[in-house]
Amino acid sequence: MDTIAPQVYDVIILGSGLAGLYAALNLSRGGPDLRLLMLSKQSPDVSGSSLAQGGVAAVIEQEHDSFALHVEDTLVAGNYKNDVAAVEVLVTEGPEDVRRVMELGVEFDKTPQGALSMTLEGGHSRRRIVHHADQTGKEMVDKLLPHVLALPNLTLLEDAMACTAQKIPGGFLLRVLSGGETTQVACRFLLLCTGGVGQVYRYTTNPAVSTGDGVRLAYELGAQIKNLSFVQFHPTAFAGGREQQTGCEGAGRESCFLISEALRGEGAYLLNHAGERFMHRYDTRLELAPRDVVSRAIMREAERTGREQFYLDIRRRGKDFILGRFPTIAEACLARGVDVAADWIPVFPCQHYLMGGVNVDLHSRTSVPGLYAAGECAHTGLHGGNRLASNSLPEALVFSRRAAEDILAAAGQSAQRLSLPPPTVPQPPSPPAWSPPPDLRGQIQRIMQKAYFVFPNAEVLPGAARELRALYERMRGGACAMRREQAETLSLACVAALILEDAEAQLL
Ligand SMILES: Cc1cc2nc3c(=O)[nH]c(=O)nc-3n(C[C@H](O)[C@H](O)[C@H](O)COP(=O)(O)OP(=O)(O)OC[C@H]3O[C@@H](n4cnc5c(N)ncnc54)[C@H](O)[C@@H]3O)c2cc1C
Repeated sequence: MDTIAPQVYDVIILGSGLAGLYAALNLSRGGPDLRLLMLSKQSPDVSGSSLAQGGVAAVIEQEHDSFALHVEDTLVAGNYKNDVAAVEVLVTEGPEDVRRVMELGVEFDKTPQGALSMTLEGGHSRRRIVHHADQTGKEMVDKLLPHVLALPNLTLLEDAMACTAQKIPGGFLLRVLSGGETTQVACRFLLLCTGGVGQVYRYTTNPAVSTGDGVRLAYELGAQIKNLSFVQFHPTAFAGGREQQTGCEGAGRESCFLISEALRGEGAYLLNHAGERFMHRYDTRLELAPRDVVSRAIMREAERTGREQFYLDIRRRGKDFILGRFPTIAEACLARGVDVAADWIPVFPCQHYLMGGVNVDLHSRTSVPGLYAAGECAHTGLHGGNRLASNSLPEALVFSRRAAEDILAAAGQSAQRLSLPPPTVPQPPSPPAWSPPPDLRGQIQRIMQKAYFVFPNAEVLPGAARELRALYERMRGGACAMRREQAETLSLACVAALILEDAEAQLL
């Protein structure tokens, strides 16, 4: 039988979302000798980044806006739980990264006079969000991906999932599942850009790839994980038919369709089941209050009225404006039987974003030497307790560039060689010691939905946290033959346990 030696790289980037792509472009400054590997769980254009609608918050001009105002808005939305230094880095460096991606071909909407067109979203005191209609993330991925694919020193493996990671002298060894095969790859620097964890919930806007693998891998490598219970619930995901109960189609595995915050920024009203605006009962900022406030207001209004039907009404902006500004949303709603120019849009909160994650410093370094994290899987602390709308795409740019800069500096300083374990002889998979029950993923999602959806449920939480911890430990030690579904479910169990344990600790 042949032995298998791992392929060796200088840097492995897990993920081909905006953080991974921009990191790769910045790492390419290290020259052609730097061997880069990028792994993507599906095709490289499937990611949370590709789904981003609203835009990128950045103070591009300072006549009507200022860095200080963007910092203040971020802190207010984050309930002042933010890391101020991280906020300042984002706000002051973000505009330059926005200009750089424009130089790489990303197009943002312009005014008739040729200036960048800025939109408004909840929590922002100024119009400062650059956007590409309602497909900002797709535009950015579509334009950056070809540059990455053209890098001569980068190998991209798609449909390839890193399922385990271990430390070895001088770096890391990863096991990768791809097309039913398992391979090993090794690297000096490992950069996690694995995105969100939304699939731990039944109702999420996150794509199917968002199973929190990066958080689990970092946790298993011994990295510090922080504020994992800081989960953002977006107030307005499309909620099915007008008379339907809460929830969305595709729930459980795929994602709920998001009705961007920019609709409220452009004047949409939020209505209860009776067609009444109700936000005045909960916050003076009305529909433009930050997301956590609006989501909680919806849940309280549902409790007050005993009805779970809620709607967005943007009809007053007129058909031409709506179809020009929100073409994707209009089309997606129409496909679901709702004409946004004539009807109310049924909406309900759903999981959207993770503010916590793998704890990193301002250079995206985790607590494990050589291990970096950037984008949604990382906790820079910049979002505090609640992310300000459109601060995530600029975070992915700024902090993945910073990770790349730090890796290049570290790679230049140390010539430490990787010490690889002896080549292995492939073994047939051992039969699993424990067979996971069917629909384990659904079980985890149901527990999470009950224990912590918008509000933590203090009665259910401790028991649920223990149940998920036991499940994770059992799966981890249970010698499950690692197929992709099992590896993803292992990540979900791990992340779900960490979320509830942190939520319990925050309640104390
Ligand atoms: C519907 C929606 C709308 C949004 N709108 C906005 C917006 O308007 N403005 C804003 O600022 N933010 C928005 N966000 C948030 C923002 O899009 C994300 O936070 C950001 O794009 C995350 O980028 P990322 O590169 O960290 O992760 P992602 O873009 O999610 O990429 C993750 C990548 O990691 C890969 N991956 C995961 N696990 C593994 C593994 N084990 N092995 C190999 N590869 C792996 C995936 O395949 C994928 O390529 C939105 C999010 C959603 C879901």
